[in-house]
Amino acid sequence: MRRVLNFVLILMVLAIQPACTQPVKNQKISTMDTVKKENNPAYSHTDTTAVNLSDEQWKKILPKDVYDIARQKGTERPFTSPLETSKEIGTYYCAVCGNPLFRSDTKFESGCGWPSFYEPISKTSVIYLVDKSYGMTRTEVECGRCKSHLGHVFQDGPPPTGLRYCINGVVLDFEKAQDAQKKYDAEHKDSSK
Ligand SMILES: [Zn+2]
Repeated sequence: MRRVLNFVLILMVLAIQPACTQPVKNQKISTMDTVKKENNPAYSHTDTTAVNLSDEQWKKILPKDVYDIARQKGTERPFTSPLETSKEIGTYYCAVCGNPLFRSDTKFESGCGWPSFYEPISKTSVIYLVDKSYGMTRTEVECGRCKSHLGHVFQDGPPPTGLRYCINGVVLDFEKAQDAQKKYDAEHKDSSK
């Protein structure tokens, strides 16, 4: 019986392992970005119209790790996102719809294991919901455009807001400021022709 139990345990570990070790967004964020934009008709850094796709549609469009967190309210393992310790200057967008969410100058090291910010880009960047799961009362943060689950906000952040937006790195797309500048320059050149 013990042997059978051990076998079952090993099977369970094997089954869980790939999900846990699945690489979270790597450095090639811009490449993934392009792929996502091609497959994802809702993705835009400028369109502010609300996105209302069905769960089935999202499941087809989104990479599994993004879908699990954004649409199934999952949580990535702490200290797994390369964005958690990133100090690069730029903008963080919703990985589901491209909505601009946070600026790097509002990011701080909270030590909680997830990318943390003290303020969203605008009042409409995110929406708030009461989350009573796991026997706690927390404030859930969702994307203001596509209503994807991003993380939670806590009242133990630094000044000036005193807030800590604890956000899953998997649902964030980061674009370096200089890349955005280059893109702007390229577009500007095109329009002046
Ligand atoms: Zn979104």
